[in-house]
Amino acid sequence: MASLDTIVIGAGWSGAVAARHLAQSGYKVLVLEARERIGGRARTYTEGTHVPVDLGCSFIHGYKEGNPTKLIAKELGVASAESRIGVDVMKPSESVIYGANGLLDVSAATDLRERLGRAHAAARNTALNSTSLTPSPTASLSASFFDSSSALSTSLTPSTATAFARTLEVPFGAVLEQVSLRWTGWEDAFAGSDGAPQGGFQPLVGRVFTAATQTGNTQTHLGESVLQIQEEQSGVNVSTVKGVYRATTVICTVPLGVLKRDAAKLFEPKLPVRRMETIQSTHVGILEKLVLTYTDAWWPNASSVGSFTFLPARASTDDPTTAEEVLSSSTLVVASFAGPSLPRQHPTLLFYLSPTPALGLARFSLEEVTDAAHAFLVSRFQVDAQPAAPTNSVMTDWHKDPLALGATTTPSIIGEGRSPLDFAELAKPLWGGRLGFAGEHTEMNHRGSVAGAVISGLREAERVNLLLEKLAGA
Ligand SMILES: Cc1cc2nc3c(=O)[nH]c(=O)nc-3n(C[C@H](O)[C@H](O)[C@H](O)COP(=O)(O)OP(=O)(O)OC[C@H]3O[C@@H](n4cnc5c(N)ncnc54)[C@H](O)[C@@H]3O)c2cc1C
Repeated sequence: MASLDTIVIGAGWSGAVAARHLAQSGYKVLVLEARERIGGRARTYTEGTHVPVDLGCSFIHGYKEGNPTKLIAKELGVASAESRIGVDVMKPSESVIYGANGLLDVSAATDLRERLGRAHAAARNTALNSTSLTPSPTASLSASFFDSSSALSTSLTPSTATAFARTLEVPFGAVLEQVSLRWTGWEDAFAGSDGAPQGGFQPLVGRVFTAATQTGNTQTHLGESVLQIQEEQSGVNVSTVKGVYRATTVICTVPLGVLKRDAAKLFEPKLPVRRMETIQSTHVGILEKLVLTYTDAWWPNASSVGSFTFLPARASTDDPTTAEEVLSSSTLVVASFAGPSLPRQHPTLLFYLSPTPALGLARFSLEEVTDAAHAFLVSRFQVDAQPAAPTNSVMTDWHKDPLALGATTTPSIIGEGRSPLDFAELAKPLWGGRLGFAGEHTEMNHRGSVAGAVISGLREAERVNLLLEKLAGA
């Protein structure tokens, strides 16, 4: 390959989009990826499942509302008729709530949803519109939710309403006590319709790399972990265990969790103190998935229900001794693939594990967790016949994965000096623009999502494109 214009570090969504954009503009790009696969936090699992199941990102949120990932899916998905990657738009399905003593009736479930909606709207209103009170930087969303004047406060069902509020900890990846009230509702994100790429997200990232490679301008090296990024006169040197590569610019898409661990030794010269402080103080959340594959959809109303919420049946303890204890003391959201949301129904249940159950279950083996989850479902669904155990199960450990160290960034957390501007700080290029940063953690509005990763990749590619043009003309 001729001398390199850009080295892209990381072959997830942001790296894929940046590499393709620059390669299509005629620049020579080398992608260095530490894993033996592309995709990063887009990971599609196929062993023993009925259809490919996404263990990382699974939905293009705001599919009909402007998410740029839709354009990529449309453009690359139809490239070859025989292996077309279409996108299914999720259809509405029933979603039900199980309390400690069984299925809640429709009015009780509606009441819970309305209370949470009102409490969340009130918190947003306090944060965004109040003319008399600015929440303190250390005030948390939980303080607002669990206040006696909150819509969640009810003499009839206080524990049920507050337990239901913890469903928000799934998309947040953080417990309500950590999430900042001051910045509630500040950030923008795509919402509305959800699109699910057929065949999963990872093959779609693969298509982006194929498109980049087909230009003849991109090479991707898998299994090549970057050890150091060094500023050089009119360029950068990037060292891996296999060698040193020189380029005019570099785009670093290493996840924030990994930067927390490695930033001090990864960059030479060192990153400015303010950047280091922002890296350490911006929060990376926890969201794990537990997938149980069955031969039959044995649970109640399988053909109509797309999502089950289970509220705790017992109080939590600091030191649960069994996986069953973790599950029964947590608020759990379980998606059913047997429901009508997607065209290819199959008997699979997917637990979305927010930080508390995720960390609790991580102490047990997959076998223990699978047995406990199956027993939990049998007991909470109160079915008469004993259903067969799952034929396959898998649980993610993004928070321990050394190349992710977390799911994604969370909304702004409590703390003096913390704000959404932290995400803008993480995006700022350094070394006269030669060192750029992309990834979900670098987008102030769409952080934590595929959209954020895609937008950041495009942003950095366009910035580097202009810089390279300018340097060529100088
Ligand atoms: C469980 C879960 C569910 C999610 N669900 C959704 C969803 O439904 N919709 C949505 O929009 N988003 C979702 N997300 C978020 C989405 O997956 C991420 O925002 C997005 O994939 C991040 O892309 P990225 O390019 O920023 O990072 P990554 O995909 O993590 O890419 C970074 C790459 O850098 C590599 N790397 C790290 N260190 C080095 C090194 N030293 N040298 C070389 N390479 C290195 C990593 O291996 C990785 O491949 C979910 C995430 C998780 C974990």
